[in-house]
Order: sequence, then C-alpha cells, then structure tokens
Amino acid sequence: MASLSEFFSHLYTMTIIFVSFLVVEIVILFQSVIGSTLKSDNPIISTTQYLKHIEEKNPTISFSEKLTRQQDSAECAVCLAKYSEGESVRKLNCKHTFHKDCLDKWLQKCLATCPLCRAKVLPDEIVARYERMQNQKGFDHGSEEEIPFSLSALYGNGLQRIS
Ligand SMILES: [Zn+2]
Ligand SMILES: [Zn+2]
Repeated sequence: MASLSEFFSHLYTMTIIFVSFLVVEIVILFQSVIGSTLKSDNPIISTTQYLKHIEEKNPTISFSEKLTRQQDSAECAVCLAKYSEGESVRKLNCKHTFHKDCLDKWLQKCLATCPLCRAKVLPDEIVARYERMQNQKGFDHGSEEEIPFSLSALYGNGLQRIS
C-alpha cells in the first residue's frame, strides 16, 4: 500500500514536471510564431525599394513625339512644363504621363496615387509598408536627430551669448 502511494506521488511529481515543461515549450513556440508573423507582416521598405516597385509597375520610358499623339496632354501636370524629346517619363496604368522625377517625388509624398485622377499606382500592401517606414523614420528623427540638433543649437546660442 505504501509503495503504491509512493508510486502515485512519484507519478504526480513527474506529471507536474512534464506539464511545466510542456507549458514552457508552448510559450516558446507561441512567441516564435507570433514573432515570425509580426516580422513577415511588418517588413518596412526603404525609399529605394519603394521606387523600385514604382519602376517595376510603371517603367520609365523615353519621351517621343509619337507618345504625344496617343495622349491628350503634352505637358507634365506636376511641374506644368512641356516634355522635350528624349526626357525620362513614366506612363501610368491610368494613361497619364509625367516626368519620371516629378512623379517619383509626388509618389513619395502623396502615397502612390496618380496626381491627376488619383488612381492607385502601387498595391496597398507596398504603400502601407512604405508608410510604416516613413512613420518609423519620423520617430527616429524626433528622438535621435532633431532633439540633439535643437539642443546643440540652444547650447550654441548660449555659448555665443556668453562669449
Ligand atoms: Zn514634370
Ligand atoms: Zn491618372
């Protein structure tokens, strides 16, 4: 009888140890799964990668007179300048054409919509990733670059006043 209760208490201890190991394993597994989903869900893209996506979807073409005949406007709606032969332009899916540089600057500020008709230039997912990068950059600037800069400006002024 004594050995039986001993056996059960032993079994009980073993079960406790086993269960606690199992819980630790599950927690570790859970964390790694959550970590990886967050990582794959959250990859931010740099401006270079963003511009590469734009280039992939809307390749740069060289402007020619032939292109003018196919479209209604011979000028860039961003800078209002007329295109000259051989200039780098981008034609969007909505059939609107802009200078490559004008459009790229616009797309970086106005999150991937055509300056004229607001048609989407890139998939939402890529835009969201780029937006996240911009937000993060904003935070970094605020905490690491702008504040020390303004402080140094403050100290600089103070020192100038002292001397
Ligand atoms: Zn332009
Ligand atoms: Zn358009």
